[in-house]
Amino acid sequence: MYTPESTRYDNMVYRRCGKSGLKLSAISLGMWHNFGGYDRFENSRAIVRKCFDLGITHFDLANNYGPPAGSAEETFGKILKDDFAGLRDELVISTKAGYGMWPGPYGDWGSRKYLISSLDQSLNRLGIPYVDIFYHHRPDPETPLEETMDALVSIVRQGKALYVGLSNYSAEDTKKASSMLKGMGVKCLIHQPKYSMFVRNPENGLQEVLEEEGMGSIAFSPLAQGLLTNKYFNGIPEDSRAAGKSVFLNPEAVTPDKVEISKKLNEIAAERGQSLAQMALAWVLRNPVTTSVLIGASKTIQVEENVKALNNLEFTAEELTRIDSILGK
Ligand code: NDP
Repeated sequence: MYTPESTRYDNMVYRRCGKSGLKLSAISLGMWHNFGGYDRFENSRAIVRKCFDLGITHFDLANNYGPPAGSAEETFGKILKDDFAGLRDELVISTKAGYGMWPGPYGDWGSRKYLISSLDQSLNRLGIPYVDIFYHHRPDPETPLEETMDALVSIVRQGKALYVGLSNYSAEDTKKASSMLKGMGVKCLIHQPKYSMFVRNPENGLQEVLEEEGMGSIAFSPLAQGLLTNKYFNGIPEDSRAAGKSVFLNPEAVTPDKVEISKKLNEIAAERGQSLAQMALAWVLRNPVTTSVLIGASKTIQVEENVKALNNLEFTAEELTRIDSILGK
């Protein structure tokens, strides 16, 4: 039996998601890795409990997270049922569809057929009647944008999602999609881009669009999958994502250049009284257009460390300039 900490709301920061009524915890947990059917359930459960005890209210999924695809939603569904039965209204749960999920022409991309059936499958796996946020996971170059946005509107009208969001959309497509949704009477709540000290594309137009449209933003892979932590300073540890089975980070991605840059960034972090992971998260949160950073974690201790990023979110102009120069900006 799980009893959440009574102090859970004492230290977390909650930030308004664009011009909406919804606030998100400044740190959110994503279940792309470490929550699949092949991962140790007790560890996944411990991470979710730890997050909630530290004030993290937002949990992010997608239809295809696992492996196998769908199993992260099943894992979280079981945790919800066993541990969070009376706590659903304290949680913001999101899921997505947009990548390949089942065979044939209806299990991928952005058709109405795919999005609506995929969300029905997700709700079944999660064991809940609605999610708080449903995202289109990536733009579809073939399906008319009107059809995809109309499907998102239907999903809201059906009560299967309270809000909708977009992920991996360009600045231009975000603007178009947001105007279309507004025209259909539904506001686009949030955008989920990849954003970290190593990946700064959202600074080239997307962040401006989000401000104009009054949308929030949640940055995925803010630690560059672990590269923006001290974990690879002395080689590739056995229990790291780069050494493991993930196809998304292989040992070749841990280049000497990247490690060198991280070590230099770590010196600034130390001066700020932070670990590199903490500074990397604070840096992403420095711009108010970013509502939340979406971290992954393989151990509860990482959540504990990362949440402490909130103890120092301020950067001096000099620190920012030094960081930019290390990053070659
Ligand atoms: P991060 O960049 O936060 O990387 C997380 C990984 O870094 C952890 O699993 C762990 O890896 C390592 N780590 C975390 N904290 C520490 C620490 N304090 N010290 C050392 N190592 C640490 O995020 P992810 O890449 O995992 O992405 C986060 C979420 O973003 C996903 O779960 C998903 O919800 C979302 N996402 C969305 C996408 C989209 O297209 N919309 C695409 C990708 C992700 P290790 O196993 O090595 O310990």
